[in-house]
Amino acid sequence: TELMDKQAELTSRRNALLQQLEEAYFPWSEKVEQQLKDSFNLSKFRPLQLRAINLTLLGKDLFLVMPTGRGKSLCYQLPAVCSTGFTLVVTPLVSLMEDQIMYLKSIDVSAAMLNASINKESVKTVMAGMTDVKSPFKLLYVTPEKIAKSKLFMSRLEKAYNANLLSRIAVDEVHCCSQWGHDFRPDYKLLGILKRQFPKVPLLGITATATSSVLKDCEKILCVSQPITLTSSFNRTNLYYEVRKKNSDNEASISDIASLINSKYKDQSGIVYVFSQKDAESVSTELQKRDILAYPYHANMDPQDKSRVHHKWTSNKIRVVVATVAFGMGIDKPDVRFVIHHTISKSIENYYQESGRAGRDDHPADCIVYFGFSDIFRISTMVVMENTGQQKLLQMVDYCQNFDRCRRSLMAVHFDEMWNEEGCNQMCDTCHCITVDITQHARQVVQILELAASNNEKMTPLKLTDAWMGKGPAKHRKMIQTTTLSRLKAEAVIVQLLLRGYLREDFSFTPYTTYIYIKLGRKAPLLKSQAHSLTMKMRTTESEPAEVSKVHIDAPQESYSQSFCMCLRCACVYEYSIQQLRNVSY
Ligand code: ADP
Ligand code: MG
Ligand code: ZN
Repeated sequence: TELMDKQAELTSRRNALLQQLEEAYFPWSEKVEQQLKDSFNLSKFRPLQLRAINLTLLGKDLFLVMPTGRGKSLCYQLPAVCSTGFTLVVTPLVSLMEDQIMYLKSIDVSAAMLNASINKESVKTVMAGMTDVKSPFKLLYVTPEKIAKSKLFMSRLEKAYNANLLSRIAVDEVHCCSQWGHDFRPDYKLLGILKRQFPKVPLLGITATATSSVLKDCEKILCVSQPITLTSSFNRTNLYYEVRKKNSDNEASISDIASLINSKYKDQSGIVYVFSQKDAESVSTELQKRDILAYPYHANMDPQDKSRVHHKWTSNKIRVVVATVAFGMGIDKPDVRFVIHHTISKSIENYYQESGRAGRDDHPADCIVYFGFSDIFRISTMVVMENTGQQKLLQMVDYCQNFDRCRRSLMAVHFDEMWNEEGCNQMCDTCHCITVDITQHARQVVQILELAASNNEKMTPLKLTDAWMGKGPAKHRKMIQTTTLSRLKAEAVIVQLLLRGYLREDFSFTPYTTYIYIKLGRKAPLLKSQAHSLTMKMRTTESEPAEVSKVHIDAPQESYSQSFCMCLRCACVYEYSIQQLRNVSY
């Protein structure tokens, strides 16, 4: 505990220091504030931005981990305009680079880029600009290949460094360094040369997806020693997470998606993620047949078509993009109201990224996965070559199979975070409950049991439920009130009454098996009073768990009482134990 106290104290001192970074006045503070408004047209910083900017301007090496769309770029673009010389930005994709250059042009910040598609003349100009004391550009975007493979470029960089014109290095998508990340790029592995050659230049590594072990790996590869890591919470509180069972019939599964889109997201824009290029084509065709303005997007389309679809979607001329994971980086549409997965993602990290394209404007948006049995194996064959592919896929499957834990809490583990149900605020299907009054239901159940008792009849759980649902012998039906609840809900009520002592179990042992009957519990008489009322929380979604293959109960079926207790301990009583109840041989 002494060690833990020390740890806690250190953490709190560190947090206090970091806090001060936002309040302290630095020589550049005024300029930073002014540029934010005048150049970038923004009114205030988002969480962590100012902290990161001050740290990098102090010359610290920094890793910045922030969800996509939160504004990581500003953390190097703004320091770049406030420093002499230029900032080198390493970016994995030419398209990302072009987007950024276009954006910077539009706000009058000078920027240049070097990649394979730049003509010789421009390359010359840019190379010359690198050592120009007047710094014709504040940001220079390059692909990692440039650094790994171009000696000419490295020698220019060396010159710039010696002339104190290389003010900062930003490595975007820094997780690409690590093989343990989800998007390893071999050329990133060679970026360690930057810190070795230019030790005085502060480095800023940026990512939206790195666990602490991936970051440790990046630290080694980039040769930075003990960088400060700033991590913002990954909890996207405005996103509602839900898992639905995928219809095994292909047509029907698409119809489900179409009717969801047509009913819930009329005139709103969204993404449907699919597994393959073929799926992208076929699903979009099927959605079109069902009156949805949907277009496919995948890696095999020619670049013009791709950017046309992207553009039309961004400008709301088409509503839905049916895409493979190729539709990802660089998407920055604020008002995406739904991201539907026609097929599960290959890992939770990927799912978080893909679904996270919803609700960038901080308004509510939905993330829905359709979970189908055969999809598991389609993806499994795809990830078979990846080191931890199977393991990650199974975690995704577990996310989908889980119907008793908050979806956020399942996701948080992958970001080294803890989100409890408060952090969810009922914004996932497993947390989303309503409180219903079950007093009348309880009275009906009690009445059935009283009647049975007066006839000397013993009621098994199954018999009780059947009778209540009007499926018992005809002579009973006349004398009792049957329920209008669905079977799942009726069972949930009975379990609830058992848990709260209005009902109890009664066991009868024979040498071969154990019989279980339901009897009135000690609290049953309370229901006689009209003033007594009883409520319970119920899921609002009626959907059954995807499969009941996740068996919580390891004990042999005949020892039912023991297995029931095991189930009581986990929170899954509604869904699973009752499924087991059905399967028990009475
Ligand atoms: P990331 O790299 O983290 O995915 P970007 O840097 O591309 O995100 O920024 C995403 C969007 O957020 C951009 O449209 C940007 O203009 C906007 N943005 C960034 N910082 C702020 C801020 N402080 N206030 C409002 N919008 C911001
Ligand atoms: Mg970015
Ligand atoms: Zn939840």
